[in-house]
Amino acid sequence: MHPTRCYHNRLGRIRILPDQVANKIAAGEVVERPASVVKELLENSLDAGATTVRVEVESGGRRLIRIVDDGCGMLRDDALLAFERHATSKLRDVKDLLSIATLGFRGEALPSIASVSRLLLETRAAEETTGTRIEIAGGKMLRCEEAALGGGTVITVRDLFYNVPARRKFLRTEPTELAHIASLVTHYSLAHPEKTFLLTSGPTELLHVTPVGTMKERVYQVFGSQVLDELVEIGTRQREMFLPPPSVPASEAIAEYRREPDDPPTRLFRLSGFFSRPQVQKGNRNSIYIFVNGRLIRDRLLLHAISSAYHNLMPASSYPFALLFLQCDAEEVDVNVHPSKTEVRFRHGSFVHDFVRDTLRERLMESRPAPAFSPRTVELEQPAARLPYSEFSQMLADAAPSAPSLVEPPAPAPNGAAEPELPAFTLRPAAGPAPRLDFSAPPLEITPGPPPSGKLSRRLDAHGEFPPEAIPAPEVSLSALSDLRPLGQIHESFIIAAGRDGLWIIDQHVAHERILFEQVMKQRAAGRVEMQRLLMPLILQLTPEQQIDYARIADELNASGFETEPFGNRTIAVKAAPANLSAAELDKILYEILEIAESELRGASLDDLRRNICASIACRAAIKINMRLDTAKMEWLLRALAATDCPMSCPHGRPIAMHYSTRDILKGFHRI
Ligand code: ADP
Ligand code: MG
Repeated sequence: MHPTRCYHNRLGRIRILPDQVANKIAAGEVVERPASVVKELLENSLDAGATTVRVEVESGGRRLIRIVDDGCGMLRDDALLAFERHATSKLRDVKDLLSIATLGFRGEALPSIASVSRLLLETRAAEETTGTRIEIAGGKMLRCEEAALGGGTVITVRDLFYNVPARRKFLRTEPTELAHIASLVTHYSLAHPEKTFLLTSGPTELLHVTPVGTMKERVYQVFGSQVLDELVEIGTRQREMFLPPPSVPASEAIAEYRREPDDPPTRLFRLSGFFSRPQVQKGNRNSIYIFVNGRLIRDRLLLHAISSAYHNLMPASSYPFALLFLQCDAEEVDVNVHPSKTEVRFRHGSFVHDFVRDTLRERLMESRPAPAFSPRTVELEQPAARLPYSEFSQMLADAAPSAPSLVEPPAPAPNGAAEPELPAFTLRPAAGPAPRLDFSAPPLEITPGPPPSGKLSRRLDAHGEFPPEAIPAPEVSLSALSDLRPLGQIHESFIIAAGRDGLWIIDQHVAHERILFEQVMKQRAAGRVEMQRLLMPLILQLTPEQQIDYARIADELNASGFETEPFGNRTIAVKAAPANLSAAELDKILYEILEIAESELRGASLDDLRRNICASIACRAAIKINMRLDTAKMEWLLRALAATDCPMSCPHGRPIAMHYSTRDILKGFHRI
C-alpha cells in the first residue's frame, strides 16, 4: 500500500489549525511559566510610561499575578483590540522592526496570556472619563464593560495554565517559581532606579523600592551596603565604532531595509552597571544579568565576553555576579529573534563582545579590589534580593514544598529595631578552589558579635583612644600592597604583612605565579621570552594522542620559550626552555601542557592556549609553598605583586591576598 494513502486514512486531511489552538501554541512559547507572564506585563507597564509598578502574586504566580501601573492606560477600543493576535500599538510596519525602542512589539503577549488563564483587564486612559473592564477566560471573552476606574492599568491573571494541564505539570515548586518572579522584578527595578517597584507574595512584601537618583543607590536599596562592597562599579564607559561598509543584515526578513548609504558613519556603545570581584565565584551563570537598551536578555556572545574578562582571574568553571546595562542605537541590535524577546542579535557582534570584555577587564585592573579576610555574611536589606541568586533558587528547588517560610519577612529584632535578621545566604566571597593547606584559621576568623551599642563603645574608650582617621574606608585596593611591611610567614607558605589599613596575608606561591605569568605573557607578546639552553637535550616519549596534540601546539610552545623538535618516532627533543624553570621539572611541565592541550583546549582559541601555556610555566617556575623566605625576598615579592596588572588572583583563579581591615580588627576588639 502507498504509505501516504495510509497516513491520510488514519489522520484525515491536513487542515489549518483553528485560532484557539494556534493561540495556545504561541502561548507555549511566550508563556512558559509565571515569571514569563510577569515579564510581559511588567514590560507593558514600563512601555506605558508607568512610574510606579506594583506586582502581587500568590502561590508563586500560579494562583494569581496582578500588575498595577500608573501608565497611560488604554482607550476602550484599544483595550478590546489588545487581545487580538499581533495587535500592538508599538509597531506600524516592517521598517519599525529595525529600530525598536519599546520592550514589546509583537502584540502577542496579552492574547497568549489570556488564552491560558482567567484574565481581568481594568484600564483607563487619561483622555477618557470612564475606564474599561474586560474579562477573558481561556481566550474567550466573558465580559466587557464600562467601569469607574482610576488612571492606569490593572491586569489580573488567575489560575495560569488551568486549561493546559500538560504545561501546568512542568511548573516547578511554588518557591522556585516565586524566586524567578522575584529575580525578574528585582532586576527590572535595578534597570529603572527612577521608578517605584513593589512586589508582594500574599501578605509578604518582598521588594519595595522608591525612586532614587543613581543606579548605585538602587543597588544599595536592593542588596544593602555590604554587597555593594563586593562589587566593582563600571561608571559609564563608551566606545565609538566607525561603521564598516554595509554589513550582514541582522534578520533576513528585513534585509532590504538595512543600512542606508546615508546612515551616520559612527555608532556609540555605552556600558554601565556592576560586576563582582574575582573572589565572588558562582557555580553557574544565573547571577549574570544583562540589559540591552533596557531589555533583560540572555546572550551567549555577552556571556562569553564577561567570562573572558575574568580569564586567568577566576577558575574556568566559575562565574561572576554581573549587572550590566548596554546602550546602543536601536538599529545595532535585532530584538526580533525569539518569541520571548530574551535573545538578541548584534549587528556588529565582535565589536560589542570586545567592548564589554575590555571594559570589565580595565575596570578590574583599575580598581584592584582586595578580598576581605573574614568570610563575611552579607546582610541583604530586601527579602527579594536574596532570591535572584542561583544558590537560593537551588535551595528552594531542593527544599520540600514547605519551603515558603524561607521567603517570609525577616522576624523583627527583639528590641523592635529595624535591623534585618541575617539572611541565610548571600553574595559571598569565593567558594572557590580549596586551599592548599588546611587553613580554616579559627583564631583569625571574626564572627561579628552582637553589634556594640554606641554607649558600649564610649565606655571602651577608657582602654585608649583610637583616632578615627586611622580607620580607612572599607574600599581597599591592592595597590596598598606596595607599602606593606612583611612580618613573617605562616607555615613558610603565607606571608603576613602589616599596612596602614590593617593586616594582610599573601599566598607566596600564587603571588609569584601571578608575577611570572604577567611577565611571561608580556615577553611572549613582544616575541622575546627569556630562554635557557639545556646542556643536554631532553628526550620525551609521547603517546600517539600526545603526538597529535604536540603537532597542534608545537609552534605556540616554541614561541613561549621552549625549543622542541620531533625526534624520531613519537619522541621529541627539548633543547631549550623558558628561564626560571628547573630542568628537573621540564618533563612534568611539558606533559602537563600536553594534557591541557588534550583535555581543555581542543577547539579553544589560540589566545586561550597561549594563556594556559604561560600559566603552566608561571606555576612551575614560581616559589613553592613550604619555603622559607627572608625579609628582602618577601618585600620584593610584595612590590612586584603590587606592580602587576591583576594582583587579585592567580592565573588559575585562586585569590592571592586577603585583607583584614583595621575596621574589622577594631570591631573584633569592640572598639567601634
Ligand atoms: P506588545 O507589547 O508587543 O505591543 P502586548 O500583547 O503585550 O503586545 O500588548 C498589546 C498592546 O496593549 C500594547 O501594544 C499596548 O498598546 C497595550 N497595552 C498592554 N499593556 C498595557 C499597559 N499596562 N498600559 C497601557 N497599554 C497597554
Ligand atoms: Mg507586550
